Order: sequence, then C-alpha cells, then structure tokens
Amino acid sequence: MRILIYGGGFNPPHLGHRAALMTAQKALKPDRTLVIPDGMPPHKLLPDLTPDKDMRLLLCMLNFAFFPDTEISKIAIYRDGPCYMFDTLRLLRSDYPEDELILLLGGDMLLTVDQWFRSDELLQQCSLAALCRKAEEGSALREKAAELERRGVRVSLLEHEPVAVSSSKIRSLLPNRQGRGFLLDAVYGEIIRHRLYGAKPELSWLREQVYAMLKPKRIPHVAGCEQTARCLAERWGLDPELAAEAGILHDMTKYWPDAEQLAYCDRMGIELDKAERQNPLLYHARTGAVAARELFGAPPEVCEAIRWHTTGRAGMSDLQKILYLADKIEPNRDYPGVKRVRSLAKTDLDAAMAESLRMTVEDIRERNLNVYIDTLEAYAYYASSAAESKEDYSC
Ligand code: FE
Ligand code: FE
Repeated sequence: MRILIYGGGFNPPHLGHRAALMTAQKALKPDRTLVIPDGMPPHKLLPDLTPDKDMRLLLCMLNFAFFPDTEISKIAIYRDGPCYMFDTLRLLRSDYPEDELILLLGGDMLLTVDQWFRSDELLQQCSLAALCRKAEEGSALREKAAELERRGVRVSLLEHEPVAVSSSKIRSLLPNRQGRGFLLDAVYGEIIRHRLYGAKPELSWLREQVYAMLKPKRIPHVAGCEQTARCLAERWGLDPELAAEAGILHDMTKYWPDAEQLAYCDRMGIELDKAERQNPLLYHARTGAVAARELFGAPPEVCEAIRWHTTGRAGMSDLQKILYLADKIEPNRDYPGVKRVRSLAKTDLDAAMAESLRMTVEDIRERNLNVYIDTLEAYAYYASSAAESKEDYSC
C-alpha cells in the first residue's frame, strides 16, 4: 500500500493546504492519505491564540473532508514535547511495516531536509514528494532531488502553483475581518463561531449567513438597520463595524416559528417572564441575543444590544441605544414623528430614546395593550434625563 503523509501545523488549515494535497493525490495516486497535524512544532512555540488540540483536529477534519481515502491522524498532535517527523514516522512504521510511506513536502522543506532531526534515519523510512513551482525553484530542487536519489532516497517532484497565503498570514488577517477568501467556508464558519485566533467576521459573509435566515421582505429593514447603526456609531465615537455587526444580527431569529423560539429558550436556559411568554413579538430579541453568540460568536456587548433592541431598558449602553434607535429610524421606517427621532439621534441619544419610547408607549396604549415593564422603565428613565436637559417628552 502507498501511504501519503501530509504533516504540518495547519494552524489554521486553508485552501493552500487543500490545493497541495489535491496536486499530490492526483500525481501519486496513493491508496491512503494521512493528514497529521503537529502538536508542538520543533524549534518554535505555538503562536498565541492557537486553538486547543481538539479544535485544531476538527478544523482539519472540515478542511480535508471528502478527500478520497484520507484520514486525519491524531498520532502527533497529542504527543508531548517537540513534534519531530522522525518520531511520527517511527510510530507509523510500526503500524505499517510493509508499506511505502511517502512524505509530502513543500519545495523549501526539501532543500533543508538534511537539517531535520535524525534525518538520515528518517530518510531510510520513507520516500519524498516535493511540491515545486514551475519556474522559480525548479533547478535547485532538481539538484537536491538528484543528490538524494544518489543516496538511495526516492524523490518525486510535483509541479504545483501554490496559493499565495500562509497560516500565519491568515492569523493576522482574521482579527481585521479579513481572510475568508483563503479558507473553506466550513472552516471559516467554525473559526467565527468560536472567534478563534481573535477572528471577527467579514460583514459580507455575515450578511449572507443571516439573510438566508430571513424572509426576503425583512432584508431591506436589516440592511437599513446595519447602515443606520454604523452611521450612529461613527457619530458617537463607537466602533462602526461592531455596530454594523449588531445591525446585521439583530433580527436573525425573527422568523423562527414561535414554538421553536420557546423550545430554544428552554434548551438554552433563557427565562421568559409571564408577559414575555404571552407576547411572541418579544421572543426574537431574547433568542437572537443567544443565537448570535451560539452561531456566530458575537461578543457580549453585541448580544446585549440585541437583547434590548425591542423593549429597551433603563440605563442602556451607547451601543444598546444605537441599535434600539437604528431599528426604529432606519431609512425604511415611515411613521409620523420618525424624522424628529432621526434628527435627535444625531444630537442627543438620550433625548432620541425618550422621544422614541414616548411614541412607542403611546402607540401601545392606544391599541389597549399592556406596555412591557422594561419599556415603561426605559421611558421613565430617559424621559427624566431628557427633562433634566429641559425637553418635555411626557405622554
Ligand atoms: Fe426586531
Ligand atoms: Fe428590527
């Protein structure tokens, strides 16, 4: 049996790794492939924010899913101490005493293979397959390959144009809402869900995910809310991207059926009071706040803003006020008084809250419905702070 061995940090695994393995499998037609993520790489520490070993294995499983006859091996990742290929191959050799082991390498690694730990013994255990660019490294690699062949090591050079990216480059992009284009969607989704590597989602990706959960008629409202939240955040000195993220996510569970929302509350330990339970319009703020974290790893301040975007409450943070107001004044909203709230939101957030809440309380009372307690408290709170600044927002 011919067994292809592809070891590395895979921290995170990316499209370049997939392309390399595709090239190797196509050229070598191995019977089996073992992808072997390292534990602790030799001669260096794992980078900051490296996910735990179980998560790294999961990312590899996602990245290499559906490659033929390919297994993600745990042989190296759970080993303590520096992870030398020599040790890995020795262990593999005991599992596969009669089989051909082919070690897949990048071209630069072939050039330095003699510097590897116990390289002479290692090279007796396996043959090598090195990826090489058509133009650049060809001749140096060919010379090295010829030298190794003279020493009895079988070397295949595989022509391959690599994807111009590295895991370290991706790690530096992820916290800046970039890097998605270098990752398989399933891998990127998992990274965002757990905010691995300090990742923040690319907003275009987040829109795609969330819009797929909404009815089409809701999308203009959510887009308007994102835009307005971003503008208000710029006006009031908050992170506009974070506010935009809250805007995109705020109604994400709006179209879950009522029974599903209640079941989700039970499952996630969300406690609804009696008034909330009787008013399905209030469910989505409670479920959305938790689902935003569970599905998209949203940070606590975003989740809390979603939590209060429908009812409001006394003493809201600026981000909470901005999302609350963006939801009520985004460009698709058209009701008497909306222009006044829009204009106040640019000059005085608390006054805008007071005016918006006043209209909401009046509207609910006119329809002979009960005003939810948090909304009443929010109204009292912001009306009194507005009164202190000499505006009168009483009903
Ligand atoms: Fe809503
Ligand atoms: Fe909304």
